[in-house]
Amino acid sequence: MALTCQELIAIFGDYHSGSLAVDLAVLAELHLLGCLECADYLKSYEETIRLSKIAFASLDDGVPENVARAILQKQTGT
Ligand SMILES: [Zn+2]
Repeated sequence: MALTCQELIAIFGDYHSGSLAVDLAVLAELHLLGCLECADYLKSYEETIRLSKIAFASLDDGVPENVARAILQKQTGT
């Protein structure tokens, strides 16, 4: 039984994180091989995850020093 595009999208998060049952993962792979639209969707999905990881990683760096100083100056107000 082949997956439809909608069925694939529904299990996409699990497929991508690798938590899908093996037989379903195989069906997903087969669908992606034969369906350009879903293959494109996979690409943009991975790109979104990559970008959000970068965004979160830069949050970990904390507030840049010059920004922190500007906020402090506003708060003390002169
Ligand atoms: Zn498809």
